[in-house]
Amino acid sequence: MKSAEQNKAVRRTHSKGRAALFILFSIILLAVATCFGLILIRSYIDSSPAPVDPAELPQIQTSVKHVKMCPNGKVFNFDFKVTDNKDGDITKQAEIKPALGGAIIKVADADGHQASRFVPAEISDTAAPVINLNGDQTYSVLVDHDFTAPAATATDNCDGEIAVETSGDYDTTTAGEYIIRYTATDSSGNTTTAQRVINVTTNTGVIYLTFDDGPGSYTEELLDILEKHNVKATFFVTGRGDNDVLRREYDEGHAIGLHSFSHDYADIYRSADTYFADLDLVQQRVKDVTGQESHLLRFPGGSSNTISRRYDGGTHLMSTLVDEVKDKGFTYFDWNISSGDAGGATSADEVYNIVTSRLAPDKDWIILQHDIKGFSVDAVERIIEYGKDHGYTFKKLDENSFTAAHGVLN
Ligand SMILES: [Zn+2]
Repeated sequence: MKSAEQNKAVRRTHSKGRAALFILFSIILLAVATCFGLILIRSYIDSSPAPVDPAELPQIQTSVKHVKMCPNGKVFNFDFKVTDNKDGDITKQAEIKPALGGAIIKVADADGHQASRFVPAEISDTAAPVINLNGDQTYSVLVDHDFTAPAATATDNCDGEIAVETSGDYDTTTAGEYIIRYTATDSSGNTTTAQRVINVTTNTGVIYLTFDDGPGSYTEELLDILEKHNVKATFFVTGRGDNDVLRREYDEGHAIGLHSFSHDYADIYRSADTYFADLDLVQQRVKDVTGQESHLLRFPGGSSNTISRRYDGGTHLMSTLVDEVKDKGFTYFDWNISSGDAGGATSADEVYNIVTSRLAPDKDWIILQHDIKGFSVDAVERIIEYGKDHGYTFKKLDENSFTAAHGVLN
């Protein structure tokens, strides 16, 4: 039998043995791990490329302490330069990438040597969006004419294209001034507003198309154009041309006025007698063809002509005639737009440009043209279209019309 003392000694011997074993095991484990680690490090060193000489790396230089950055991470361009010992300036190959709190410039040279540089950001967006009206700020639109205001768009330095809120409307059937307001707000709350004014107007202007010296070779063509556009004109006729054409002018509702039978200045402006003798001839012709007398007339050369001085023997004939024609019940008409077709203008484009450049809204206009001039007749359709587009009313002359009377110079 072992005593209690002996049992204790045996147990102590056993526990000492276990501790020794544990230490031994730990040492072996540590050695194995170290070897394994060394092998790993060794293999890593073996596989990594030879260290690069820093002189071979692209050099990134910037004088900027901060890049400007939008709250949404958009980085604005900033100055930097990348140079490489072999490739030279490779700035253009660099990429800017947003990073937390800044931007990273990344670049690689032709040999694949990479370099990067972090630049801290200054995050702010105080620039308001820019509104583009995509058209005029003010439009003048004629009542009852088609019009659609262009849509405004907006761009923002941080957000790019952004939505535009539009308020206000316009009514092209009612004259008035209408305002359309545009608002654009970027993601940082910067707001821009803009507005557009739409003036819906009426044009009370009247155009009287008048044609002298016919009927002529182009008169029928002119009548077709007038018919097509349902425009009535006034013809100050002479002794020339076909009666059929003169009758058509009348039958189609145009006004027939008297100009001169012979249109021979040397004859008609010799005296009041010669003038009225000629006027009687053209009046008779009109009466024969249309069955109606005309009480509208236009003096050859207009009431302001000075050519009559050459033939009237110093009698100031025009001053006499303007009173005498009134006494006989005539109304004479001059013009306030000369198309130039009897002088300066030699093409339809010129006639059109002269006439349309002189027109202005809300006034009466008597336009002088000659239907014996083909190029002038060629301008008529465009003049009508222009006039209608701009809200003018076309009328023929009558005894109560505006006369555009010139000042008498002889
Ligand atoms: Zn004439």
